[in-house]
Amino acid sequence: MSFEVARRVVEEHAARARAAAIESRSTEAVDLTAARGRVLAEALVADRDFPPFARATRDGYAVRAKDVERVPARLQVVGEIKAGDSAEKIAVGAGQAVSIMTGAPLPSGANTVVMVENTENPHPNAAQNAALGWGTVERSGSANGFVEILRGVISGENFVPRGAEARVGQTLVEAGRRLDHSLIAIAASVGKSRLQVFRRPRVAVLSTGDEVVEIGATPGPSQIRNSNSYSLVAQIEDAGAEAVRLAIAPDEPGRLRELILEGLACDLLLLTGGVSMGKYDLVEQVLSELGAEFCFTGAKIQPGKPVVFGACKVEASGSHPNAAQNAALGWGTHGSDSADISRAGAPALHNRYFFGLPGNPVSTMVTFRLFAQPLLAALSGASPEPLVFLSARLKGDVRTKTGLTRFLPAVISGEFANAEVELAAWQGSGDIAALARANCYLVLPPDRERVAAGEMVSVMAP
Ligand code: AMP
Ligand code: MG
Repeated sequence: MSFEVARRVVEEHAARARAAAIESRSTEAVDLTAARGRVLAEALVADRDFPPFARATRDGYAVRAKDVERVPARLQVVGEIKAGDSAEKIAVGAGQAVSIMTGAPLPSGANTVVMVENTENPHPNAAQNAALGWGTVERSGSANGFVEILRGVISGENFVPRGAEARVGQTLVEAGRRLDHSLIAIAASVGKSRLQVFRRPRVAVLSTGDEVVEIGATPGPSQIRNSNSYSLVAQIEDAGAEAVRLAIAPDEPGRLRELILEGLACDLLLLTGGVSMGKYDLVEQVLSELGAEFCFTGAKIQPGKPVVFGACKVEASGSHPNAAQNAALGWGTHGSDSADISRAGAPALHNRYFFGLPGNPVSTMVTFRLFAQPLLAALSGASPEPLVFLSARLKGDVRTKTGLTRFLPAVISGEFANAEVELAAWQGSGDIAALARANCYLVLPPDRERVAAGEMVSVMAP
């Protein structure tokens, strides 16, 4: 499968998994201060007009447009209105102006605001000042004095009319959005100190390999410390989900099967290693024996070619009702609200997605990013987000073999609109150290043998 087709396959399953996750209504309330990264399970609705009053966007003078059609115009300053004052505090009559501050309500009678920069306040004692060489004007408002309008404005300038941003009752944010700082600001402004969010999916992480040892152990000469479980936990948590790190599975079917079954109790199972063509790559075999259905086994990408995606039916454990995934695959065995209730004595079956990610650390990270992340987002109830590549100018020629879409560790530099990218030195997908030198992936299409320096190329954020 090409990269694009494989990604599409995941996205299709993700769409169904998401619909089912929403249907399951598995939600909880969290404090706004703990809501970052969580997925909204309710819409955020304007509880009043936005802005709730005609709000000045400049410091200046609230006036009637008619009075400033011809400039300069001298208006009588009848008072001042600042942020927090009532709009009824003072009214603007013909030939009058009210000194107004940013954030203040437009006083009645006024229909526009002149910026203070376009005005002058003739000082009451201008003549005396001039005699003393003290200058004749100052820019601060002077109540009951006069203001000189130097530049005309039309009606409706420098304020936002009441309700122009949103009307009371209007949906500001749909359910399904992941809460970032800007959505948190919206929640705060509609007074939501607690929010209904989807429960975080639990993701099991199962690293496999006879050579892989726990990080606390002293590795033998041909052993490798388990880094994949740790990078995956970090990626899972970054994606707003909860990670469950399982023991390392040896390349032996019995124990591997036990740990896979343990992992299938979670909402998603991520395995690493054991999906290549080697004699001891047993992951696919054991999953098949457990009745797994495979959506793909391999994608035309580098790194990450052996990546496997599929789903497995498991018996309900009772602790994690999940009709969601069953429904997503059309395997529904029961109503969505009674996932764990067996019918006619038969145990309810649940559907669990899994990814078999290749064991090479860079492959593990890239395939998580490309495939596991969108499914995980969907299981979180999040609306789909497109995978967007940035554009940068290639610094030096790159040669590759055709046939695979490549995601190669690279360094992006330059700034603003002048991004440049070059490959990081690396020894292939086992080279973790190279990642410390890289800050992005250079994405090369499968049909190019040579990409020349100076060409615009695609770049994926890590
Ligand atoms: P595999 O996909 O099982 O063929 O493994 C490919 C390469 O990744 C081998 O060199 C493994 O030693 C290495 N590897 C597999 N699992 C891990 C892991 N959990 N942490 C670090 N390296 C690993
Ligand atoms: Mg292995």
